[in-house]
Amino acid sequence: MVPHLQPTCKYRIVALDPSVRGPDRNILTAVIEIPNERLAPGPRGYRVQVVDYDASNRILYEPAECREADNLKVPKNPEKDRAFHARNTYAIVMRVLARFERALGRRVGWSFLGHQLTVAPHAFLDLNAFYSKDDHAIFFGYYPQQSGHVFTCLSHEVIAHETTHALVDGLRPGYTYPSSPDQAAFHEGFADIVALLSVLSLREVVTAALDLHTAKESELIRASLLTEEALKGGVLFGLAQQVGEAMYGTHGVALRRSIQLPHDLKLAKSEEFKESHRRGELFAAAVLGAFLKIWKNRIDLFGERQKGMVSRVGVVDGAIETADHLLTIVIRALDYCPPTDLLFGDFLSAALTADYELYPDDSRYGYRKALREGFASFGFRPGSEAPQGTVEPGLWADPGSVELHYNRTHHESMKYDADEVFRFLWENRDKLEIADNAYTRVESVWPCYRAGGDGFHLRETVAVYSQQIKLAARELHKHGLGKPRDMPDDVEMTIYGGGSLIFDEAGRLKYHLRNRIWSAKRQDPRLRYLWEQGSLNTRKSFAALHLERALRHDVAVAPEAQPLEEGDHAG
Ligand SMILES: [Zn+2]
Repeated sequence: MVPHLQPTCKYRIVALDPSVRGPDRNILTAVIEIPNERLAPGPRGYRVQVVDYDASNRILYEPAECREADNLKVPKNPEKDRAFHARNTYAIVMRVLARFERALGRRVGWSFLGHQLTVAPHAFLDLNAFYSKDDHAIFFGYYPQQSGHVFTCLSHEVIAHETTHALVDGLRPGYTYPSSPDQAAFHEGFADIVALLSVLSLREVVTAALDLHTAKESELIRASLLTEEALKGGVLFGLAQQVGEAMYGTHGVALRRSIQLPHDLKLAKSEEFKESHRRGELFAAAVLGAFLKIWKNRIDLFGERQKGMVSRVGVVDGAIETADHLLTIVIRALDYCPPTDLLFGDFLSAALTADYELYPDDSRYGYRKALREGFASFGFRPGSEAPQGTVEPGLWADPGSVELHYNRTHHESMKYDADEVFRFLWENRDKLEIADNAYTRVESVWPCYRAGGDGFHLRETVAVYSQQIKLAARELHKHGLGKPRDMPDDVEMTIYGGGSLIFDEAGRLKYHLRNRIWSAKRQDPRLRYLWEQGSLNTRKSFAALHLERALRHDVAVAPEAQPLEEGDHAG
């Protein structure tokens, strides 16, 4: 008889990191559900393979056997258990991947050729972690401290952050090109937000944080005590305080720092906040601000119904459902973003539109209103130029009354065939304002099947094309672009453009979210900024962002897994 295979399975993970204890003084853990599969030792699965290679000591450890019975176990001293590190990292990477696939309604690939992302939980001796496209891998460092080793592979936030870099790089490879302070900051801010919302959607985490900051005698709490300030100052900030700041450099402190940023319109224009990590915090703070508002709206709504009292469970449910829905919104937004030169305002319009498509009515909890307000509190306005008086502020405009030609392309193959989509682009290049003198490539065509909360489904096809052209500074004016001051005529550069095409169920173009290659409004500030920064022809790498470190494979295999101690490297 063929055995019934469960589609999902459960793992118990370290909820935040081993320094964060629950009310029982034990390490706070949480149970997560991920896609089920038959794992090879490592664990090595269909999308993620853990390879326990230590580049600092040049040892490749024997892969750990996977036993289903272990999945719900967290050892008393997780630091000392190499097999648990592997399992914990695998499970969290898979959870983030599955979360992206659920939000986008399709499979999501990595940025490199190949299906399996390599994950090295003990890659090097340093307090750092990074994603490297060239190595198809995420590397986690470890570091000795007086109390024992600190492992970045035991931090939920760090794992989710690095996995998000890998996923965004697959969905939007153009975001590592040099462009603007916003684009440079986006990867970091977005990775922080996915990490934070992933953590805030865990019941164990929110329950523990709430228990720490409210009297536990009663199952009911007075709603008026849970003001936005109290939630921010007590519950969330309490959570942030617990996340070890010293341990993980810039990662573990994201929640703590972002939540404290004052709502000041001047920040975004200041020199300090043009630096990518600082600017990424503004992005994170805008979304966190929205989270707080919506959570508070939900608590008030419960309070109105129950004579000013809310149940603890209701408060926790409010947080995890809000975090979960916001996570869906921000991930779906990626599909509605232009593939090059992203500004925070574009992302905001993309998020609003992505949510509107499935939930036209925002009146119950006001997700989109809160997002608009969150970004506005730092001076970021929606990128949409949709005319006033349209359904809702900030939504992308549809292509309007432009008569596009559909009769020379086949609707069915437009759902998956890049050549067919390219033909559609070429046929309609005038109406879609696509330059025919640049190198143009349809990078991806993805049919999507997105689920709404009420059982409503939305079928869309998302196609992404990119354009680029190399030219010298002296040629800029021929294309209507301005040359930055003091730039010599012979400086060579690449100009990027491109768009995301969203087709509806019937194969009609619903949205065209693009940055035109010959748009002076977009390209002139970009060129000026990059020229002034001296970063005109550079490309951001995560290895450089986090830490430069190469992984070599010329090593011996250790006879069996051993605890990480100084001097245990056997050749
Ligand atoms: Zn990062």
